[in-house]
Order: sequence, then C-alpha cells, then structure tokens
Amino acid sequence: MTWLDLAEDSPFGLDNLPYGVFSRGGEPARRVGVAVGEHVLDLPAAAEEAAAPFAGLLGSGVLNPLLAAGPATWREVRAQVREWLTEPRYADQIGAHLVPLAEITNHLPFEVADYVDFYSSEQHAINAGRILGGEDARLPRNWKSVPIGYHGRAGTVVVSGTPVVRPSGQRWWDRAAGPSFGPSERLDVEAEVGFVVGTGSAMGTPVPVGDFAEHVFGVCLVNDWSARDLQIWESQPLGPFLGKSFATSVSPWIVPLDALEHARVPQPPQDPEPFAYLRGAEPWGLDLALEVRLNGHLVASPPFATQYWTAAQQLAHLTVNGASLRTGDLYASGTVTGPERHQRGSLLELSWGGREPFELAGGETRTFLEDGDEVVISASAPGSGGRRIGFGDVRGRVVPH
Ligand code: MN
Repeated sequence: MTWLDLAEDSPFGLDNLPYGVFSRGGEPARRVGVAVGEHVLDLPAAAEEAAAPFAGLLGSGVLNPLLAAGPATWREVRAQVREWLTEPRYADQIGAHLVPLAEITNHLPFEVADYVDFYSSEQHAINAGRILGGEDARLPRNWKSVPIGYHGRAGTVVVSGTPVVRPSGQRWWDRAAGPSFGPSERLDVEAEVGFVVGTGSAMGTPVPVGDFAEHVFGVCLVNDWSARDLQIWESQPLGPFLGKSFATSVSPWIVPLDALEHARVPQPPQDPEPFAYLRGAEPWGLDLALEVRLNGHLVASPPFATQYWTAAQQLAHLTVNGASLRTGDLYASGTVTGPERHQRGSLLELSWGGREPFELAGGETRTFLEDGDEVVISASAPGSGGRRIGFGDVRGRVVPH
C-alpha cells in the first residue's frame, strides 16, 4: 500500500528503494536520493524536514557517510523511507520532495575506495581458457581453490552514461605478428555484478564469510570494459593492467542487500570442498537475471545464480590475509556467463575470440566493439509477491580515440 501512484510492475517498487546521487536540471548540487517508481525522493530534504536522526549523514552529495554508518542505520533509514512512502499522513510533506526521474542527472553514487574484480564464473573461465589457449585448455589448477581476482583502478570507475574513449596501448593479437601500438582493435565488455562495502574492517583482521551482510551495503551492475589486445600482451605473467584500467562503468542505483532477500539461492555445488574460511552456513547465491544489449539488440542473458564463488566468499577471501576494507570499496563478480550460448557475458565469448561474428537483429554483425556502439547492461531479481526488483541500467557508448 502506498499513497504514491506506483505501477504494480515498477522495477523501483517499495521492496527495492535503491540509493543514488542526482542533480536536478542544471543545478550543481548533488543530492542523495532513493528511486521509487518514476521518481527519486530527495532524501536529505525529506530527512531535514522530518528532523530524522540520520539527516546528518545525507548532506555530502555521496553515499559514503551513510555507508559508513553500518547496518543498523541502513535498516533504520530504509524503514523510515518505506513509512514515509506508505503512510498517507506523509503524502503532502514527502510528496513535495519527489523529483521525476526524467528531470535528473545521475552521478557516481559513492566515492570509490578500492576496486577489485574477481573471475568467478566457471563457464566464463572455461570459455576464456579455450578461446585464448586452445580447445583442450582446462580450468587453471587453482581456480576451484582460490576465488581469483585482481586490484583494479578505483579512480576510473564512472557512472552509467559516461562515454568510453577507445583506449590506446601496446596491442598483440595475431600470433604471427609482433606487438603494435595504437587504438585497441579488440574492445570488449564484461557484464558483472558489483558489491559496495559500507562498513570497513581493521587491517590484520579477516572478515569471516558469515559477516558479509555486516559489511556489504548493496549491489549494482558493472561493465568491466576490456581491451583484449592490450590485456593479453601485458598480462604475461601478471594480471590485468591497462587493458582494464581505462574505464569501469557502474549502474547509478545501489540496490540494498535487504531488497534482495527473495533473490537468495544456494550457490552451485563446490567440489572440492573449499577451505574452511570460505565455507558459510548462509546461502549467498543471488538469482539475478542480467541482460546485455548492443545498440538496442539483446545479445546475451547471463544468469548470476550460476556463479561458482559467492560475494560472501569473495569478501572473506579478499580479507583473509589481513587486508582491510574501507567504506566505498567496490568489488565485482567477474564476467557472468552461463552454460548456454546466449548466456555469455562478453563479446570475446559471443564471437569466440572474434572467429565467429555474431548477428545483431537486422543483419549487422559484430566481433568486438566499433566506435559509436552503445552497450546497456540491465538486471532484475525476484521480489516479494511475484514482483521483480529492477537494477538501474549501466550504459556506455564507445567514442573514437
Ligand atoms: Mn572483469
């Protein structure tokens, strides 16, 4: 029930209430907001007017102070926002602070501290191994023991809609030729899910797998843009560097972990059994249905529930050596790829290394991205009463070097 005019099938229903940062018209001020239906609630304005105890966390134009406040405060704010949006007595007071989504500009919702990217889809790891190493390539020997990841570049995490300039660098693709320098000719996307850390941790103290929800505030979508011809040449023997660091796009709305209660599922069976620090009693598989569109054409529907390692295991792993967490840390799942052909979350896989161009509706084909191409990743998850929770899109267009 709500006094709002809210469509039953809205991706931003009352079970969702994702957080973002917006500005209005040409105004420079950035405001923390909560998306609901076709609107965003100007949260600092509402909190100030209602003299809410958490109003002081909302005035900085980024989510970080709210993230740092911890799970008890996150729940308090969420419950209060729900009450404002459902109790008719608040309709006038709160209604005055609803801004149409069509009138806003989204900004990066939080100041990114560290950025880590994992590699946790078994099918993606198998495909990448075969494409780059030959058809009989196997999973790396460590893959089912270690949730593989690398540290990326926090400063180039950008909000959805930010154009992506085709990166230049040292390229190597054709095995018969040597390296060359110039704009990437193998520019790719990776459809991923990102986890936003709220509560930090002390250096030297690992975060147990069971403490995931004490630290992680919410979930967004990530496009880990990847220049394959740079990546493959430079990643010998270390991990991704300039092939990834030029841009990472995130969706503008952070879906609170509490909104994903109905999306939780057991993860796929793990064999061999992981080390004890990676074993948790609670299921943290998430049944998110991703969709990847290239110039408006649906090219892939990756299922997040197939991920081998969960976000709770990834968090335990990235702190098990004593590395600390900071408010605003972002870690991404790795490319989400399912077992079926239409479930591949990268163009590397969709075109099988560029050897099998895939079709967009209308007869056009692609291997990797061309200048002007726009990629949009979207997702939804089960909510209550058969409804779906929607994620904001992460979109980006390639502009020439
Ligand atoms: Mn990635």
